[in-house]
Amino acid sequence: MPITTLAPMPQFDTQASVARLVRLLAVPGITGQEAAIGREIIAALKEAGVPASAISFDDANTRIPEPTQTGNLIVKLPGTGKKATKPLLFMTHMDTVPLCAGASPVVKGKRVVNVHEGTTALGGDNRTGCAVLVTLVAELFKQKLPHPPLTLLFTVREESGLFGAKHLNPAELGGPAMGFNVDGRNAADVIVGAIGADRWTVDIKGKASHAGVAPEKGISASMVVALAMAEVYAGGWWGKVVKDGKVGTSNIGPIGTADGRSAGDATNVVTDFVQVKGESRSHDAKFVREISAAYKLAFNNAGTRVKDNEGRMAKVKFTSRLDYLPFRLKDDAPVVTRAAAAVRAIGREPNLRVTNGGLDANWMVKHGIPTITFGAGQNEIHTVKEFVDLVEYESGCRLALALATGEAE
Ligand SMILES: [Zn+2]
Repeated sequence: MPITTLAPMPQFDTQASVARLVRLLAVPGITGQEAAIGREIIAALKEAGVPASAISFDDANTRIPEPTQTGNLIVKLPGTGKKATKPLLFMTHMDTVPLCAGASPVVKGKRVVNVHEGTTALGGDNRTGCAVLVTLVAELFKQKLPHPPLTLLFTVREESGLFGAKHLNPAELGGPAMGFNVDGRNAADVIVGAIGADRWTVDIKGKASHAGVAPEKGISASMVVALAMAEVYAGGWWGKVVKDGKVGTSNIGPIGTADGRSAGDATNVVTDFVQVKGESRSHDAKFVREISAAYKLAFNNAGTRVKDNEGRMAKVKFTSRLDYLPFRLKDDAPVVTRAAAAVRAIGREPNLRVTNGGLDANWMVKHGIPTITFGAGQNEIHTVKEFVDLVEYESGCRLALALATGEAE
């Protein structure tokens, strides 16, 4: 039953949309294990009237370097008009962070929370996006609203490194003119740019020796780390990095062995191996690489300073890989103006923003599909306090409808 009376157009069945959200939140699907949630989304799409022939999975999971149950879920719907137009892409990710395992959603006032509050995350990141996409199709069909051809994309393994979006084949999406990614808190926040990042790993091989009897015969990998970090810190490359007007960040994450144990086994042994993992970020792709290069230089320098009594040095192997490229869409790009107009159509004021986190949209832009991101009520994500704000979720549904039915620019 449509209950919205005062809200701006377009109208839709908010109760059904909330029921859909709770249904999708109840299905587990942590990153890499998206088979069950994929099936549930397909069931909900079929109930909304989508024919089985419109639904398929791609084979991105065969290219993702981590075990992944299924490919990305792709749905292609013809437009209602006679004119041939390029499709619009609506996308979202269907995986959740591992902290969501065991969540059980329940509606409490204008929120959805976990029944066992404070024990797990909820999964509103990103089942809100999944529910918005299914609601979009259900309402377009039920209300027989005119719309251009649509491609829906539900990606896998977003949370563990944007892998589904990275490894999809853009040729399988039907040539969309632009993309709308649902993954965020606020429907009026239009994300038009995002940061880029490198992840790097450095393996330092020293030499073990008895630390009390013959320390001079050892080469301490731990000391290489310490000297490298001191150089990085002194050079201003750690944490928030500002150089000649360029801004970025960097961080050192795990310090240990390749299989996750602590670096160094005993106090009386010179530590012979340490693996360090870290990251570099900036909205300037070149500066991301400069930050990573500063780390590489510091580790290599430190490796030459820590020697045994015969002058042998530590061996340092620094490997860096592009996590995702930064992007910034122009304010007058058609995807941005269409999004801004749709936000106004639902009675809100658009807020164009850039984010310091990576998004599936980073890869879509790289694939040649200009893509903005907006939110649909996820809150306190990746924490045990996670909840969904249903007012914002309903705004996200309404915005998707406005985007799909509004006049193209
Ligand atoms: Zn997300």
